[in-house]
Amino acid sequence: TGSETLLETLDLHVTYGPVEAVKGLSLSVRRGEIVTLLGANGAGKSSTLNALVGLAPRQAKAIRFEGAEIGRMATEAIVRRGMTLVPEGRRVFAELTVAENLLLGGARHQRRGPLDAVEADMLARFPILGQRLHQKAGSLSGGEQQMLAIARALMSSPDLLLLDEPSLGLAPQIVDGIFDLIAGLRDRGLTILLVEQNAARALEIADRGYVLVNGRVEISGSAAELAASSSVRDAYLGA
Ligand code: ATP
Repeated sequence: TGSETLLETLDLHVTYGPVEAVKGLSLSVRRGEIVTLLGANGAGKSSTLNALVGLAPRQAKAIRFEGAEIGRMATEAIVRRGMTLVPEGRRVFAELTVAENLLLGGARHQRRGPLDAVEADMLARFPILGQRLHQKAGSLSGGEQQMLAIARALMSSPDLLLLDEPSLGLAPQIVDGIFDLIAGLRDRGLTILLVEQNAARALEIADRGYVLVNGRVEISGSAAELAASSSVRDAYLGA
C-alpha cells in the first residue's frame, strides 16, 4: 500500500560489550500495519524492540519515527511521541491494583481524575479488567496480566505499539484471545510491531514480516509470502 511510513530504521546495531546482538537491521513499518519480527531465540528480536524505545544500547544511520530522528532520544521522550513497548514477560506491578497499574501507563496525559476518558475507554475494551479494577495485579491469571500489560501500554495513547512475545507461556485458548485482541487493535487504527515465537499465529494476523537470523534480516515479505516460504516453514512453522 502507499500509506505513510511510521517507523524506519537504517542499519541498526545493538551491542552489549563484546556481544553484537543486532548487526545492521533495516526495517520499516507503515501506518495501520501489523509487522512481525520472527526468529530463533537469541536472534536479536527483543534487542531490536528495546533499542527502538531507547532501552538497549543502539547505533544506527537513522531511526525515524513519524518523521523525527529518535536514535538519541530518551525512552520517556519516545513514549511521549507515541511509541510504547509491552516488554516480554507481561511485567505488571503485582502488588498494585489493576487501576493503579493503568494509571502508571498514562504518561502522555494530563490527569483529570482517577478515571479519565482514556481509562474509561480501556475498561470498555477490556471488561475483565473493569471487573477486577481493585484487585492486585498479581492475583490475575496469566492471560489477564497480559491484557493488563497491553491496556497499560495503550494508556499512553500510542500510535505504534511494540509487543514482545505476548503469547509466551499462555494456554492455547488464551493465546487465541490475545491474538484476536491484537488484530482488533490494528482494525481500530493502531500500528503494531510484533515479536513472536509463535510464527504461524503471528503470520495469520500480520501484514508483513521480517525473519532475523543472528542479528540480521534473512528474509522479509508479506505475511503470505513468508508463510509460503520453504525456509520459514522448515525453521519456524514446523513443516
Ligand atoms: P529471545 O526470544 O530469547 O529473547 P531474541 O531474538 O529476542 O531472543 P535477544 O534477546 O535480543 O534475542 O538477544 C540477542 C543476543 O543478545 C543474545 O545472544 C543475548 O544473549 C544477547 N543479549 C541480550 N540482552 C543482553 C544484555 N542485556 N547483555 C548482554 N547480552 C545480551
